[in-house]
Amino acid sequence: MQTKINTAQEAFIYWKAISIEERIAMVEELKKVLHQNREQYAAMITKEMGKPITQSLAEVDKCGVLCEYYCQNAATLLQTKHIQTEGHENFVTYEPLGVLLGVMPWNFPFWQVFRFAIPSIIAGNVVMVKHASNVPESAESIEALFIESGFPIGIYQNLHLSSDKVADVIAHPEIKGVSLTGSEAAGSSVAAQAGKHLKKSLLELGGSNAFIVCEDADLDKAVASAVNARMQNTGQSCIAAKRFLIQQNIFDDFTEKYKESISQLVCGDPMLPETQIGPLARVDLAIELEKQVEQSVAMGAKIVLGGKRKDAFYEPTLLTNVTTEMPVFKEETFGPVAALIPFKDLTEAIEISNQSEFGLGVSIFTEDIDTLRSHISKFEEGAVFINTMVKSDPRLPFGGVKKSGYGRELSEEGIKEFVNIKTVVIH
Ligand code: NDP
Repeated sequence: MQTKINTAQEAFIYWKAISIEERIAMVEELKKVLHQNREQYAAMITKEMGKPITQSLAEVDKCGVLCEYYCQNAATLLQTKHIQTEGHENFVTYEPLGVLLGVMPWNFPFWQVFRFAIPSIIAGNVVMVKHASNVPESAESIEALFIESGFPIGIYQNLHLSSDKVADVIAHPEIKGVSLTGSEAAGSSVAAQAGKHLKKSLLELGGSNAFIVCEDADLDKAVASAVNARMQNTGQSCIAAKRFLIQQNIFDDFTEKYKESISQLVCGDPMLPETQIGPLARVDLAIELEKQVEQSVAMGAKIVLGGKRKDAFYEPTLLTNVTTEMPVFKEETFGPVAALIPFKDLTEAIEISNQSEFGLGVSIFTEDIDTLRSHISKFEEGAVFINTMVKSDPRLPFGGVKKSGYGRELSEEGIKEFVNIKTVVIH
């Protein structure tokens, strides 16, 4: 580890001294190589963690979109800001911090890493990534991609580490910040270590997003979006909709249509282009999901569809009669399980939506956008999406509140997380 940190530190001295245009030019090249290798990367992602192949391809392509966004915008986002005060010259510069550590998960093995690494690197930092232990080939390939694209050694390094060694890396004096995407437990441990050593941390943790459908909503549009919002990546997404709050007058109608749409999803071999639902990334994750459903059923939940596991495959599952005490409501369900709950009016929907330890995002479907506007501030969330599902977009900030973490990725906010915002005053 020490050798890699030395390499990173040496690389940083070079990297921060060159112009942002030179750094961007290398990311432009990386984007080209990424595109050339897209099918190979996608097949590897699918092989490693079971994501349906069309979605793996989409993930790789989205990394290209992110590169493009920052290549186009980073110089403007980070340009020196001048602020006028009583006749003096003042300005603010955005300077890199140094060597950053990324602790990354397996659910989007390329996207999560890119989301952290690309803006950090363009801002002049260098990164070391401890990737999830179940996606070692993705981890190696991303490092190889940087080298193949012409990046100097040390700008991006893959760390082969078990999670119990992460604390030592954070403690190292040359590490200036850490970004983690993963579970609450991992986030809490990393944040505690970062706090102990007074280092900046960013946490992108779990979510249990509500998906609210009001009686005036376009039902077919809401159902189509609800399928995608829950079932994409076989449900293994922090921003997936997990709790479906449906206004009571349309509850039965919605449930029937949702069930019908979900039963048509093609489940099976994730390498086949027609497959929409693959296995979960690991058997233990499927067993955990099974337990959450079984416990909820024991507490009175009713299975409308699915509910069975075979090895790592978990059937797309719909549950009704769900109460706020059940695991499928209280905990994050990281797989294709939707909990459906009726609500009376918008006030009650907001109350149920906020009854979660998480606060990543919420979707609300309604035709009455004017009324909804006045309620946006009542949602305890990092994102409110109206008449569409919550999704990340490089142009928009991304992150949560409550136990979903802190800090923001993507957009201007993301690239400014790991910089020294330096104030200069000239009298
Ligand atoms: P983890 O949070 O355990 O894994 C994510 C990353 O954190 C991995 O690189 C892991 O390394 C590392 N890690 C784990 N524990 C620590 C620690 N104490 N200190 C430092 N790093 C650590 O997720 P799991 O794979 O166990 O998934 C469990 C649940 O977490 C999921 O069911 C889901 O609810 C949530 N999750 C949320 C994600 C999100 O996108 N927000 C992504 C992944 C999971 P290693 O693999 O070596 O253990």
